[in-house]
Amino acid sequence: MTKSSKKSTPYHTQLGMKIIDSHSHYLSAATFESWRVRTDAIQHRIHTRTDMTSVDIPSPNEDFAQKWVTELDKNGISRIGMMVGPESWNEFADALKRFPDRYYGYANINPLLPNAEEQARYVIQELGFHGFKLYPVLNGFHTYDKEAYQIYQIADELKVPVLHHFGISIGAGVDLRYGNPLDLQPAARDFPQVKFGIAHLGAGMFRETLLLFYQTDNVYVDTSGSNVWMRYIPYPSDLEGVMKRTLEAGGPKRIVFGTDSSMFPRGFRYDILEKQLRIFQRLKVNSEDLEHIFCKNIRRIMGNE
Ligand SMILES: [Zn+2]
Repeated sequence: MTKSSKKSTPYHTQLGMKIIDSHSHYLSAATFESWRVRTDAIQHRIHTRTDMTSVDIPSPNEDFAQKWVTELDKNGISRIGMMVGPESWNEFADALKRFPDRYYGYANINPLLPNAEEQARYVIQELGFHGFKLYPVLNGFHTYDKEAYQIYQIADELKVPVLHHFGISIGAGVDLRYGNPLDLQPAARDFPQVKFGIAHLGAGMFRETLLLFYQTDNVYVDTSGSNVWMRYIPYPSDLEGVMKRTLEAGGPKRIVFGTDSSMFPRGFRYDILEKQLRIFQRLKVNSEDLEHIFCKNIRRIMGNE
């Protein structure tokens, strides 16, 4: 890799900026273990749908929490928001205790499980997570279903945000009929105090995501990932055009930066940070609004200010 020279003076530090990545994945040894039966399919999807050429399988003996913190330090990143599957909840709770200022945790919840309500309370109240991540296309529910509403009820009580993955997904087994962000509008109306997030700018459901900016006050988007969905929309687009429309429709307070970093050896996706930062600069976003997008909005959403 030739990135070492760049990493010694990361672009954002030249600008004096503090960065929080709101959306990445904590894929520990336990997570890989839970995928084992599907490894071949996952390898195939990784090779055909991502820019990764190799993947390190974490060892159960390594200090994975420290590994990510070292990676953040290397890249000059203040804090990272991790999506965490149930198999790694306890391990991640320990990471949160050891590094309370370096991580945010979203617990992946499947609202269709019989004990979903109990799990949702447990992860926030006992394990110290900061929010919920729902994945309608993976688990097969609409966000207006009563099972999702029970999670929103708890989010309302415990004052935590709920992030959603709508649109296309790297998961091979998903059902895209559950992928429409407009499904979220009734919930955003019925729980006006809850902050509802949409990951990856809607992952292809861009039009629907923008419409929600008009219809709601409590929906935000994250910019995470390489946004490959732009190849599958029926009109020419690039990330700069997408960010411009997002800014025009939602304004800088409803946009939250993320990278969707997930696996080593790729580690933290600095290329995504630099690309997005340069785009927002070209779009003449002022330094105060840059701070909101890259740091302050997620802090506010997480109740840190
Ligand atoms: Zn993600």
